[in-house]
Amino acid sequence: MALIVQKYGGTSVGDVDRIREVANHVARTRAAGNEVVVVVSAMGKFTDDLILLAHDVSSTRPAREMDMLLTAGERISMSLMSMALGAIGVKSSSFTGSQAGIITDTSHERAKILEIRPDRIREALDEGLVPVVAGFQGVSTERDITTLGRGGSDVTAAALAAALKADVCEIYTDVAGVFSADPRVVTKAHRLDKVSFDEMLEIASTGGRVLMLRSVEFARRHHVPMHVRSSFTWEPGTWIVEEDPTMEEAIVSAITDDTSEAKITVAGVPDRPGVAATLFRELANDDINVDMIVQNTSAYNLADISFTVAKTELKAAMAVCEKVQKEIHAASVTSDDSIGRVTLVGAGMKSSPGVTALMFETLYKDNINIEMISTSSIRISCVLRADKVADAVRLLHTAFGLDGE
Ligand code: ADP
Ligand code: ASP
Ligand code: MG
Repeated sequence: MALIVQKYGGTSVGDVDRIREVANHVARTRAAGNEVVVVVSAMGKFTDDLILLAHDVSSTRPAREMDMLLTAGERISMSLMSMALGAIGVKSSSFTGSQAGIITDTSHERAKILEIRPDRIREALDEGLVPVVAGFQGVSTERDITTLGRGGSDVTAAALAAALKADVCEIYTDVAGVFSADPRVVTKAHRLDKVSFDEMLEIASTGGRVLMLRSVEFARRHHVPMHVRSSFTWEPGTWIVEEDPTMEEAIVSAITDDTSEAKITVAGVPDRPGVAATLFRELANDDINVDMIVQNTSAYNLADISFTVAKTELKAAMAVCEKVQKEIHAASVTSDDSIGRVTLVGAGMKSSPGVTALMFETLYKDNINIEMISTSSIRISCVLRADKVADAVRLLHTAFGLDGE
């Protein structure tokens, strides 16, 4: 008997028929002799609708109240799912994140899980029930309701799977697995059978939104395999597993695209020790996550520092930079929110020269200008104009031989 955590995303529980179909699948999984814990997202685009409501009602939206509001979406799905299971004879009980023992820090709207006390979930399993847990939410050490950031139900599922020592964490979504590129951007993208945790971390952190980054980190740290698959066809999908020596390392496994970031440039910065430290310390103190960083030294001992931040944090980051600009006597601070990023990910890249050259040549052939570059041993990212990103992904997908495999 295996213990399986099954997470169903918004589209998977988008309406009443879908909820019934999911309930049938849970019943099938149980009938095959498994224990099942279900994690649900809000129905369809319900979270977006709640955000719009908040915008309509007020221009000030305290993060604590936003969390109270948004967690309502998952509460609706969890109770309906439990009722749908009951209707087909599967005994179940629903739990909010707080009831499921998901304890977070106090950062509203992007809380981090500190601890999981899944006693009630274990008790429910021992009583032969299917626990249905509201994704995306927890309770803080100050006893306030928190959310884990957009897409956070993936984290709930991976964290519960880790705490319960589940055999697998299944992520059901509207595509058949992890693809060689976002299938909505590249129609010729193909499904990957297996992806290593290392590659998946790079895919998730550079725009492949099929899994939230922190869920992959949890699963890797606790050695829980993940299985990303379709709740429409129920066919086997993509396994995210620890790398093993028999796994073939593709030079490029996947190409991601991301237009969620903006670029900030602090120009004419005195080129002396401590200046970059001051700037990035101030940003860190305000909890602003910085992604790619590039520094060019120009004439007269002045440098330009450019970096990217999430568009949602641009305003806060600009305020910090403008303050620091005065302290460090930099010439100017500017921002650009029309950038995008394309990234090649592949574990075989580390031992294959020429990947970077082919990437740059492919972009050059289409006259696409590269504005920033960053690499890890298994990733190369380029920042481009946002309106060039989709073309760039398609061209690179063809150039690296990934089309329709
Ligand atoms: P859910 O609501 O089920 O959590 P998401 O919208 O968060 O679903 O994630 C699924 C979507 O991720 C797909 O519809 C697809 O467009 C997008 N996506 C982006 N990159 C990839 C990729 N490499 N493979 C599969 N899907 C991807
Ligand atoms: N409903 C939340 C969101 O839309 C969480 C999730 O779906 O994972 O971000
Ligand atoms: Mg998601």
